[in-house]
Amino acid sequence: MDAEEFRKRGREMVDYIADYMTNIKSRPVTPDVEPGYLRHLLPEEAPNKGEDWTDIMADVERAIMPGITHWQHPDFHAYFPAGNSYPSILADMLADAIGCIGFSWAASPACTELEMLMMDWLGKLIGLPEQFLHSAGPGGGCLQGSASDAVLVAEESRSVARDASEFVLVGPHLLRVVDRSEHPYCSKLAHSCVEKAGMIGLVKLRHLDVDENFSLRGSALEEAIQADKKQGLVPFFVCATLGTTGVCSFDNIAELSKITSREGLYMHVDAAYAGNALICPEFRHLIEGIENVNSLAFNPNKWLQVNFDCTLMWVKSAQELTSALNVDPLYLQHKHDDKAIDFRHWGVPLSRRFRALKLWFVLRTYGVEGLRSRIREHCRLAKIFQNRVLSDDRFEVVGDVTMGLVCFRLQGANSQTQKLHKMINESRKLHVVPAMLNEKYVIRFALCTEHAKEADVEFAWRMITCLTSQLLAPPLR
Ligand code: PLP
Repeated sequence: MDAEEFRKRGREMVDYIADYMTNIKSRPVTPDVEPGYLRHLLPEEAPNKGEDWTDIMADVERAIMPGITHWQHPDFHAYFPAGNSYPSILADMLADAIGCIGFSWAASPACTELEMLMMDWLGKLIGLPEQFLHSAGPGGGCLQGSASDAVLVAEESRSVARDASEFVLVGPHLLRVVDRSEHPYCSKLAHSCVEKAGMIGLVKLRHLDVDENFSLRGSALEEAIQADKKQGLVPFFVCATLGTTGVCSFDNIAELSKITSREGLYMHVDAAYAGNALICPEFRHLIEGIENVNSLAFNPNKWLQVNFDCTLMWVKSAQELTSALNVDPLYLQHKHDDKAIDFRHWGVPLSRRFRALKLWFVLRTYGVEGLRSRIREHCRLAKIFQNRVLSDDRFEVVGDVTMGLVCFRLQGANSQTQKLHKMINESRKLHVVPAMLNEKYVIRFALCTEHAKEADVEFAWRMITCLTSQLLAPPLR
């Protein structure tokens, strides 16, 4: 494809995207396909000769779109939002064109420096103490590919930095001497990525009980630490969650961080979804005690209108992180590496996309006020949905509704809510996912799309009550 054709196809693609977004409601929110469907629609072998662009685009509608779950659909209420916006899409397009691989400052200075600036902009915006900012230090922030990466990097940085003698070099392989006595902690409601980080780090995770508000409290952590120490185990890492995936509950950062700093444990705060709301001052109380934690991460690609992937991770000590992950072959060194930041030392991959560009575009296009108003609107709509649920005595709401998520269920046995959940998704008019909270099966209703409206909430509620009436209707004789 030459530049002239790119101009033509690029314009067509922008039109296709704008039409897709504008008319998305005309498509069912979920696909109606079975596993393996695509094999019947596309050839088994790659084409030998290049094909016509119009044929490729025709196949997008014929083969790809029928298998798409439309995350940007106004009736998509599953998981947490997948951030999206036109400025972010355009920024990714430009980043792809520049195509730099910013593993070091020298590999593309603007890539590193914009990332540092964006981390400081966002850090200030959520009220982080100065030590987490590049402008003050000794910490700073970087972009990771996902909240899971951030948990892994945090956990590894502590366990690796703790004692280098845990490693032995055998032939070309670096083997870790597994120390099964090390213990990381998180609440029962922490995301599964914390468990996975433990698996990768070869440490066994301990899940702790939460209180009646689904919050991990200091007392539960204290008890576990003391009990484990008595058994000769070595607590070393705590992952607290702000905005649990199941119910959007909040671990008590102030209580937990007091204990972790006294005990010398590393504490990471996984705020994948809820961290975005910290740009609104009314939510800042949730990070009280943050000065005592080691790191915090959240995903603008969930709730700040930035497309996947984009996770912000701040650490209080850059040196602790980079000394754990520093590898420095000659071919990656450069003449400014003593005074410039090389983000390859801040995470797992070497190559890094120019992700800061989309943050910068989105922040400048919408401004802080624009982003705050979207978050507040989702929270307002969640309250409206909660009130609808509370007004119908066939249902109950489980957990507090603090942000854009409402967990609800039918009164009585779990099996009824399970059936309702199945009916909702099989309608293909709404999409929701369930969670299990204290043995109660609940349906999660999340506000997801950039332009979510009251009418969407009312539509969802009408669908849900209509299906509920069908479910609870006495059988015809
Ligand atoms: N942590 C929490 C609390 C989440 O809700 C999620 C996903 O929704 C994750 C971590 C995983 O996020 P990622 O897909 O960025 O790894």
